[in-house]
Order: sequence, then structure tokens, then C-alpha cells
Amino acid sequence: MKLDFRNERVLAVVAHPDDAELFCAGTLARAKRDGAGIGICVLCQGDKGQSSEPVKNLTVIRRKEMTASAELLGAELFPGGEPDGTLADTPTQRLKLLEIFRSFKPTSILAHSPEDYHPDHRAASRLAEAASWFCASRGRKTRSPALKSPPALWWMDTMNMHGFTPGFYVDVSGFVNVKTQMLACHQSQLRRGKDADFFPLAELMRVQFRARGLQAGVDAAEAFRMHLAFKRTRAW
Ligand SMILES: [Zn+2]
Repeated sequence: MKLDFRNERVLAVVAHPDDAELFCAGTLARAKRDGAGIGICVLCQGDKGQSSEPVKNLTVIRRKEMTASAELLGAELFPGGEPDGTLADTPTQRLKLLEIFRSFKPTSILAHSPEDYHPDHRAASRLAEAASWFCASRGRKTRSPALKSPPALWWMDTMNMHGFTPGFYVDVSGFVNVKTQMLACHQSQLRRGKDADFFPLAELMRVQFRARGLQAGVDAAEAFRMHLAFKRTRAW
């Protein structure tokens, strides 16, 4: 089976400014190559990701880094602006994400796995799941009209592949350069690789796309699982 993103609109919903790079940038790049509209919604500011040498104006710097990365990919960027560590599945956050869904009109959502390691990732996961349903509910009013139908929802791989059983793999062998260049935009985070309590992000990303690639018989892959819920699944 050949996956074809033509006529699709793919929106990644992530917690932090460098999460899309780690888990789905290759897939977004492949969708873009096929002619899909692509977007990245980053719900948190990334303001708490300080290294041992604290950076002033980190919120501003991380906004610049994620903007540069999205531009490299040619993706529309939707910054949520929530401080790190405070993201929760609340009625206010749901409405905010609903409006983003209705303005971008995704056919597919890529979201953090419900079992990922970080509380912000898990909150983003719950929010994306709720919005993927309510965006098509006419009774939920936001500025833009309700979508005709809910988008499909794919759960993304977890950080370092912990506890995630892939449902399928996307071959991103031709897109590791853009994935790597996008991650390189996040210098404020890559610098943290020297800290004993952090980890070298570029190495972690490379190990993960290689490991998933080896599992799938290609050079590099990203792993996903379909959200098997009413109207959030799709046939190809
Ligand atoms: Zn994150």
C-alpha cells in the first residue's frame, strides 16, 4: 500500500516548540511533497526549557526558533502561548484548539500519544482528542463554522519509544535532512545536551528514526497508531 497525502490537510498538535521535529516532521515533509497543506500547532511556549546557563527572554527565543523551523518546512504555525507545565484539558483550551482546527480545516491530526512521558504531552493528547470530535459539532460555537466531519487522528511515537507499540510506519528516508535542519533551529534546546539532567536531542532523534526504520525495513521511519474511535478512523 502506498500512502498518498494528496488533497489532505495535516495538522500536528504538539506541546513544545521542538516536539514536531522529534516525532512527525518527516511525515509532514512527505505530506508537503505530495501537495498536502500542513500545519503545526504548538500549545506551550517552551518557557521552562532552561539550560544550566539560563537564557533571558527564552519565550521570545523559542518563538523565533519554532517560526524558523516551520518556515523551513513550509508549514503554517499556530502558537498556543500557554506557559510550560500548565497545559490542561480545560473548556477554555478546548475552545482555543477548536478554533484552530476550524480555521486550518485538517483532514488528519497528528497528536502526542496518551501514554507519552511529559504531563504537557499527555494534556495536549487529551485536548487534540477532544477537539478532533467537537470541531465538527455545530453546537460548539467559535468564530469559524464547524467542520463537515471530524479529522482522522493518529497518535505519534513517544519520546525514546517508551511504551509505544506502533500501528504503522511512515517511510521518511528522503526527509531526514529537513527533519535534522528543523531540529537545528532549536539551539536553545540543543545547548542543553551538555547538561547531565538533559539529553542530546539530535542523537535521540537520529536513534529513534533509525530504530523505527530498521523495524520497518527502511533507512528511516516515524511510527504512529491510528486512534480507533468513531469517525476518527479512515480507510486508504
Ligand atoms: Zn515536549
